[in-house]
Amino acid sequence: MYVNMGLIGYPLGHTFSPVLHTHFLDITGINGGYTCYEAESPSSIPYLLDMFRRYSFAGVNVTVPYKIEIMKYCDALDASAEKTGAVNTLRFVNGKITGYNTDVYGFGRMLETAGISTAGKNILLLGAGGAARAVIAYLAEFQPDKLTIANRTVAKAGFLASLCSFKAVSSDMDSVRGGIYDIIINSTSIGLKGEGFPAVGAASEALVDLQYKPAVTPFLAGYGSGPERINGFSMLVWQACRSFAIWTGTEPEPDIKKLSDIAYRS
Ligand code: NAP
Repeated sequence: MYVNMGLIGYPLGHTFSPVLHTHFLDITGINGGYTCYEAESPSSIPYLLDMFRRYSFAGVNVTVPYKIEIMKYCDALDASAEKTGAVNTLRFVNGKITGYNTDVYGFGRMLETAGISTAGKNILLLGAGGAARAVIAYLAEFQPDKLTIANRTVAKAGFLASLCSFKAVSSDMDSVRGGIYDIIINSTSIGLKGEGFPAVGAASEALVDLQYKPAVTPFLAGYGSGPERINGFSMLVWQACRSFAIWTGTEPEPDIKKLSDIAYRS
């Protein structure tokens, strides 16, 4: 049997997902393929979903900017998507679509692999977009003592803080500059266009960036020497592993070193 998988989003020119899923196919011996479908406008989503059903796709990933938009096309949502309020993975069974969010799993596995615990900590989360929702869904399980969510659009941070089942406050980006935290997590897209990212607050334990390119991301580069710092590459790999498992029933054991060599060699 051939397993058809893919990705919808825009733009997709720099996505690493096909490399990851081709690696998973290789190491599991599953016969299949992973193809990218750029959807410049949301109006092309229904057409793409029809095509995926006609060609019996097992599922597709969904990335920026459609992680929330895609929810209205789902017949059912898995608990991971319900608690996050965003979908990054679709599974097709008998023409019906179930939405999942594997970013929560990916984020958790990244922290656990790095030995970072959020329970009882004082945490600053920068950003209040789709990725921040995945971080908050994870923190609901491993609750910090206090979470500060800082965002350019403060109302969005306030909305996310109001959803938290633990102590959480919102802020603008400037007010947290002098703050001291145990862990600072960057979920903004600042720096993706090559702009600098001056340090926002100080961390005693860890700096965690969801961005992963370059290896020392603009956020991590904004700090001098200090605590443990990790970029989002392993989160990317683990969320992809979980999507692959949802589609194929097989959880791959990825060679992260090999994948990271491929990702950072250019
Ligand atoms: P998103 O929903 O578009 O949110 C972007 C966030 O960045 C918002 O909080 C936005 O603030 C803020 N922002 C963007 N440009 C800004 C600027 N110039 N100044 C200040 N704030 C700015 O995107 P997302 O899906 O959350 O993704 C965010 C980042 O996480 C991206 O870099 C993405 O690559 C990364 N990510 C990584 C993984 C992984 O597996 N490693 C998974 C998911 C996401 P406003 O609300 O004010 O617009």
